[in-house]
Amino acid sequence: MTKNSSNIMALSPNTSNKRETVCIFGTGDFGRALGLKMIQSGYPVVFGSRSTQTSSLIPKDAEVLSHAEAAQKAAIIIIALQRQHYNFLIPLAEVLHGKVLVDVSNNLKINQYPESNAEYLSQLLPGARVVKAFNTVSAWALQSGTLDASRQVFVCGDDMEAKQMVMDIVRAVGLTPLDKGSLLAAQEIENYPLQLFPMWKFPIFLSLGLTAFFFFYCLALDVIYPYVYQNKDFSFFIVISIPNRICPILALILLALVYLPGVLAAIIQLYRGTKYRRFPDWLDKWMLCRKQLGLVALAFASVHVLYTLVIPIRSYVRWRISSHTISQALNNKTEPLNTTNAWLSDSYVALGILGFFFFFLLGITSLPSVSNNVNWREFRFVQSKLGYLTLILCTAHTLVYGGKWFLNLSLYKWYLPHAYMLSLIVPCIVLVIKFVLIFPCLDKPLTQIRQGWERNPKYSEQSNYIINKSAV
Ligand code: NAP
Repeated sequence: MTKNSSNIMALSPNTSNKRETVCIFGTGDFGRALGLKMIQSGYPVVFGSRSTQTSSLIPKDAEVLSHAEAAQKAAIIIIALQRQHYNFLIPLAEVLHGKVLVDVSNNLKINQYPESNAEYLSQLLPGARVVKAFNTVSAWALQSGTLDASRQVFVCGDDMEAKQMVMDIVRAVGLTPLDKGSLLAAQEIENYPLQLFPMWKFPIFLSLGLTAFFFFYCLALDVIYPYVYQNKDFSFFIVISIPNRICPILALILLALVYLPGVLAAIIQLYRGTKYRRFPDWLDKWMLCRKQLGLVALAFASVHVLYTLVIPIRSYVRWRISSHTISQALNNKTEPLNTTNAWLSDSYVALGILGFFFFFLLGITSLPSVSNNVNWREFRFVQSKLGYLTLILCTAHTLVYGGKWFLNLSLYKWYLPHAYMLSLIVPCIVLVIKFVLIFPCLDKPLTQIRQGWERNPKYSEQSNYIINKSAV
């Protein structure tokens, strides 16, 4: 052999690495999108279709055959059909025997059928090796190069070898397989794409309710009251002043609500003297959506920052400053600097800036890419210790903002407290309870309880005890 020919041999593709043919039943949106992706990844693809005529929509390197002919050409068959058409596969049972059938189907409703589509397929064709995969990836995501969407593909199946073969394809098309175990997990996987922000519902509805309440509260005190008693039209407050009052109020209340379930859980554990009993359902659910509550709170805090930045360019604010200056000039009188007020104003702004900084830090550490890079102790330090520091700073920011308003009863319109005072109720409750829980007489038994100690071990003998997640 010449030197040249040996070089050519070295550069030529390794024929043993040639990918195996994959068959796809169905030339619909999903079948075509996945087929094209596979062809691009080096897989020969053959479609099984009711019509063997190729159309311009079908990837040009793919073959289109009848279902039986196509199935004979591949060991893996992607069933890109709707579940209601699975019956037509029964006459093909013989040719599908021993083949790996990949169920990619989704339903229209959560738990629409008693069994998952993959289990149903397995019941229809007991001789086939059914694997559930790809259902969480959309045809659009496959077409757009999987850059704009989730890259995770949940895979489950009872046959380990079949599952491995499917996971190899998932990797080859540039996605990330996530083994979810046996076919029993299929129902859960089929429900994933149908869930609509499950953990966000409570925080969003709560913030909508609170926003509506505080909007009408501020409207009554800041717009309707001056109109009724002073005949002044402050309706323009609806655009910036009232939203800029509601945003910090909600940010503070929601941040406090992130930490309230933790202290409530601590009280329950101290009272029961064990961690081996379930928390009430509402508390469990509340603890599960603390991250979402915190992120909604951060969103409100960020909007508050933006609204605050535009204060100096507001026409009303400029009018107030200039009319104050003009009235001083007309009266030939200047006011000396009030150092106490200057201190209060600077402290209020400084506390707000620091509070927002730590709030922002909390938000960043809750991102999966960041939290994956810190260990459990570091995560707890940030979310618990820095979280409480943020709550203290934001509460102090609001307290200093109010200054002496608390004491001046003449400022209470319609005998109602100013909205910011209402926002302090939950944070103050959380901080006071947390402060009390720090005392060694409570902190020591609580720590022991969280390490498994029980005051009354009879609970551990009860059959239905469940280990609670220890509250952060
Ligand atoms: P589709 O566009 O409606 O295509 C389904 C294909 O099934 C048709 O193109 C047809 O292919 C075949 N078919 C229709 N009626 C049939 C019948 N009576 N008997 C046998 N075959 C029949 O649906 P799709 O959007 O491609 O979705 C296919 C599967 O993928 C569904 O189970 C869906 O839940 C799942 N999925 C879809 C997406 C998505 O983004 N579209 C994402 C994840 C999962 P032939 O004309 O070639 O026979």
